Amino acid sequence: MTYPTENQLVKRRPVAAGQLLINGRWLDSKSRETMPTIDPTTEEVTTTVAKAGPEDAELAVNAALKAFEDGPWGKMHHEQRAKIMFKIADLIDERAEDLAYRETVDMGMPYSDFLKVLAPHASGVFRLFAGAAMTAMSGSYRSSYEPDLKIITKRQPLGVVAAISPFNFPLLLSISKIAPAFAAGNTVVHKPASDTPLSALALGQIMLDAGVPEGVYNIVTGPGSSLGDSLVKNPKVDKVAFTGSTKVGIGIVKNGADTMKHTTMELGGKAPNIIFADANLDYAVQAAFWGIFWNKGEVCVAGSRLLVERPVYDEVASRLTKMAKEAVLGDPLDPTTMIGPIASRAEYEKILGYIEDGKKTAKLLAGGGNHKINGKGLFIEPTLFAASNDIKISREEIFGPVLPIIPFDSEDEAVRIANDTPYGLSAGIQTGNMSRAIRLAERINAGTLWLNAWHKYHPNGPFGGFKMSGYGRENCVESLESYTQYKAIWANLV
Ligand code: NAP
Repeated sequence: MTYPTENQLVKRRPVAAGQLLINGRWLDSKSRETMPTIDPTTEEVTTTVAKAGPEDAELAVNAALKAFEDGPWGKMHHEQRAKIMFKIADLIDERAEDLAYRETVDMGMPYSDFLKVLAPHASGVFRLFAGAAMTAMSGSYRSSYEPDLKIITKRQPLGVVAAISPFNFPLLLSISKIAPAFAAGNTVVHKPASDTPLSALALGQIMLDAGVPEGVYNIVTGPGSSLGDSLVKNPKVDKVAFTGSTKVGIGIVKNGADTMKHTTMELGGKAPNIIFADANLDYAVQAAFWGIFWNKGEVCVAGSRLLVERPVYDEVASRLTKMAKEAVLGDPLDPTTMIGPIASRAEYEKILGYIEDGKKTAKLLAGGGNHKINGKGLFIEPTLFAASNDIKISREEIFGPVLPIIPFDSEDEAVRIANDTPYGLSAGIQTGNMSRAIRLAERINAGTLWLNAWHKYHPNGPFGGFKMSGYGRENCVESLESYTQYKAIWANLV
């Protein structure tokens, strides 16, 4: 799909202040407090949104529970639910430019990237689960040794799902929770990240316009430490679907344990991208560059450790250095921009700290500094280091445009380095030998493997991590199961 303004310079415009969506109505928070959203390109306030606290969370959970237990959603035939979900997908396409604008001024991702990649993916995920909502999740059979015994199996929704989403890819990583939750018949309270709440508010209006009954989708904006925490501890919430850092994810699992929450955890990563000497280097270098620098490295599955076989190490490093020096940093609303600003000042400072650390422990090849447009903006140059795997910048998730390049001498050494990380979200192998690629893909501990590729996605492609990158999967019909509970009804036909 192409959108009319995909290749045009888009001007900044006002965005209306945001409220909470509770029980189908837009409301201020109980405290009437608000919080600003900052455009990372201009460092100016775009608008304000409601700052909710535990009291507002309680209201939203109660609305979701009432909608689940008494509202039309649970009684609705699943084909009708699917029809509403298809309508949501159509409205996401229709309003893609507004959504793209909101994501760009919140997160700093190029506007045209959202229109080309994220918008069709987001509506695609809704369509996938709308279709899945129509598939039977129940069965019945008779016992072979007790002919009068009928067994009915049934998948039922869990109830109220708290969807807690991160600051990067705000719309998509919200939809990947909301769509399967809806398909199974759950109701949702959504807490978007405080730095990037604007697309969720537009999604709320889409839900109302698509005919989602009141209370089925509720939005609360506010700090994770208080508002998010109160959702996680609320006994009326049945599941927490979380994407974010491993540290916060661990806290959520612990805090949710007292009320036996179902959880899915989509957490951090430190993905190895392995280039063998027999790879098509034109392609492999592109995959390595965009593998880390797409969305300025604020991507959980970014190829954030590059492992290069020694005979081509210098060539790969020098090609990447040239690309890094030539990359166009700029306003993400400008279609010529390749790399936009970091989403928030806190992330910007954190990344610059890692770069300073890298300068002491590795050899800087490119970048290493910040960048300003008219004296403003949270831009960081694409940064490359010649490095080893045992230093901080190779071990910790930086979540920014920083790439350590690490040499290796054999297949076994590449696998050892690749797996020498607490994370296991994604990995890639660039080689001319597909047998080797498949062999290694089976040995590398990661949820997503890209062979001669990077950043390839499909709404039905399972997405999730091994090890400290979490558990559960999103974006595939199988993920629907984790929004249901399985019941057996035994009927003796006497
Ligand atoms: P984060 O700091 O962990 O925050 C994620 C969400 O959790 C935000 O909405 C945050 O609210 C909320 N939160 C914070 N503390 C909480 C608490 N005590 N209880 C409940 N909720 C709480 O992560 P982030 O900085 O937004 O996102 C970057 C991280 O996400 C990276 O580690 C990245 O790898 C990971 N990520 C993983 C995937 C994946 O699919 N595996 C995808 C994208 C990103 P506030 O914003 O108000 O603090």
